[in-house]
Amino acid sequence: MLGSLPAALARLGDTVGVVAPRYRGVLLPRERIWDAMPVHVGPHSFTAGIDQVVRHGVRYFFVDIPALYDRAGLYYDAGGDYGDNHIRFAALCQAAIGIARHIFHPSVFHAHDWQAGLLPLYLRENFRGDPTFFKTRTVLTIHNLGYQGNFPAGALRDLGIHPALFHPEGVEFYGRLSLLKAGIIWADAITTVSPTYAREIQTPEFGFGMDGLLRSRADKLTGILNGVDYSEWNPEHDRYIPAHYSARDLSCKRACKLALLQEAGLPADTGKPLLAVISRLAYQKGMDLAAAAVPWIVSQGAAVVTLGSGEGHLEAVFRGLEAAHPQSVAVNIGYDEALSHRIEAGADMFLMPSRYEPCGLNQIYSLRYGTVPVVRATGGLEDTVDEETGFKFRDYTFEACTGAISAALSAYRNPADWAERMKKGMAKDFSWEASARQYQAVYRSASRSAAEHHF
Ligand code: ADP
Repeated sequence: MLGSLPAALARLGDTVGVVAPRYRGVLLPRERIWDAMPVHVGPHSFTAGIDQVVRHGVRYFFVDIPALYDRAGLYYDAGGDYGDNHIRFAALCQAAIGIARHIFHPSVFHAHDWQAGLLPLYLRENFRGDPTFFKTRTVLTIHNLGYQGNFPAGALRDLGIHPALFHPEGVEFYGRLSLLKAGIIWADAITTVSPTYAREIQTPEFGFGMDGLLRSRADKLTGILNGVDYSEWNPEHDRYIPAHYSARDLSCKRACKLALLQEAGLPADTGKPLLAVISRLAYQKGMDLAAAAVPWIVSQGAAVVTLGSGEGHLEAVFRGLEAAHPQSVAVNIGYDEALSHRIEAGADMFLMPSRYEPCGLNQIYSLRYGTVPVVRATGGLEDTVDEETGFKFRDYTFEACTGAISAALSAYRNPADWAERMKKGMAKDFSWEASARQYQAVYRSASRSAAEHHF
């Protein structure tokens, strides 16, 4: 999102800066604009180098504090979550505030997820008397409510949060300190990444314990669909796929399918329906349901290709499916961007049976690639797939899931109807511009409503 939304806002005329940690994986040149910015988090002091990179009219500021960010993983390594994650991301918030005071003067801070959840709190509580920020507003985007940044209560002191704020109407979440909750309470506006998910997180089923809090903030909570980057995801000029095609001329999709079958070690039978899964192998993604459906899919005469990595037991289950059905199931364990493009181009259908899905990207890519999505009707899947472009099921059950796949397989047998369906999906447009305009509206309304609260 931070690779695309800021550029889309800049194209609409906004002045945008992005603050991110200089993780080890950031390979951009070091254009150091500030050698030693002091960053204070509670009793901890750091010195940050600030590197600036300008891309697509957006100033990216990378906060270089090697002791915090120059590590093998982003949030964890083989030993588990880093024990100082709360300090690492509190430092990011403080660095963003420092940049906003001295280098780049935003009228709105847009904080993403628990990692930036402390920013609205720091701004309103720790910088309460600083006139620089009297008119500055904050927007929090929740990308996935399942990740809340909850820490032991002792973290309060580490982060320089006043103990008086540790109560259920403040940063306390069932005895722990929640950085996402801090964002929800102190931000002037809250967004999440699809309209349906914005409604769902206000219910106990999807609320991860925060549904009541979110209901109480319903008037400042908006759902805005993520866009996708069609310069990367377009079968007309995708650099990773063996042949290019479009809604006007679908003929080369068959060549993509043949190449994929060969690469996957499956029989070169392009008449057989090919169903794909590309996903983190995780509970959220419904991969247990996908795995349960695979033998049934094979029994219906279809083939399956999967790409994903994640939970060890799910990786083992998928490997077992490939071993049991070597002529029909190809399983790739790992993360492989190029292969994910070749699968999108080569498959006929794409399965996303998520338990919950804040927005989801692959179903949107699938639409553009003429790869008909079969999805559970939740979150962004509900908002992006309709009866004309894909197949949906509601209940999280084997019967409902295979029922939708069955409908898709029946439809596939009528080539003219199927091609119509593909074309309708390919015509859908989920580019960032429309979403960026909605964010602009949220920034404006945050400024208005906050003005009423703070003055
Ligand atoms: P989430 O962020 O919950 O994992 P999304 O659908 O929003 O799900 O985004 C996931 C992105 O990661 C998609 O672009 C998908 O193609 C990609 N992806 C997931 N797993 C893999 C993988 N094993 N290899 C390549 N790309 C993957």
